[in-house]
Amino acid sequence: MNKQILISKDAIDRRVGELGEQISRDYANSELIVVGVLKGAFIFMADLIRALRIPCRVDFARLASYGSGASSSGKVVMTKDIETSIKGRDILIVEDIVDTGLTLKFLVDWFLERNPRSLKVCAFLDKRGRRKVPFEADYVGFTVDDAFVIGYGLDFNEKGRFLPDVYRVDEL
Ligand code: 5GP
Repeated sequence: MNKQILISKDAIDRRVGELGEQISRDYANSELIVVGVLKGAFIFMADLIRALRIPCRVDFARLASYGSGASSSGKVVMTKDIETSIKGRDILIVEDIVDTGLTLKFLVDWFLERNPRSLKVCAFLDKRGRRKVPFEADYVGFTVDDAFVIGYGLDFNEKGRFLPDVYRVDEL
C-alpha cells in the first residue's frame, strides 16, 4: 500500500486541543452527551473528550453501509444503537469523516426523532467535494481533498487504524 503523510500527529494534537476549547465554550453549563460513531471515531473521540474542560457522558453507535469499503453506497443501517436516553439532552455526534454525507444524515435524522434539546456534529475530517446529500458538520478538524485516508482510527479493511498520523493512500 503506497501512502503519503497528510496530517501529522502534532497538527492533529493542536487541532483537537482547539476543538476541545471551542466545544467547552459552546457547552459551558451543559451536561453534554458525546456519541462516538464506531469504529473510525474511537481514537479522535478519546482525545477530544480529554481536551474538553467540561464534564461529559459518552455513548457509541455503529452504522453499516452496503457496498465497497471505501464509502457509503446509499443504504445505511444502524447495527448498534446508543444506550442513553437523549430526550431533552445536548448531544454531540463525533464521527471520523464526512464523505457523501449519507451516514451522518441518517444518524442525525435517527436521533432527532428522539427530541434531544440540541444536536450537533463534530467530524475529524471533511471531504467537502464528495457530498451526495447536503450536510454541514458543526465542528470540523480538517478539510481534505478527494483522497482515501487512513490512520488516527481510520482504516482500510482494518489496516492502518493504529497509525498516529493521517495518510493518503494512493493505491488501494
Ligand atoms: P459517508 O456516509 O459520508 O459517505 O461516509 C462516511 C463513512 O465512510 C466514514 O465514517 C468512513 O467509515 C467511510 N469513509 C469515507 N471516506 C473515507 C476515507 O477516506 N477513509 C476511510 N478510512 N474511511 C472513509
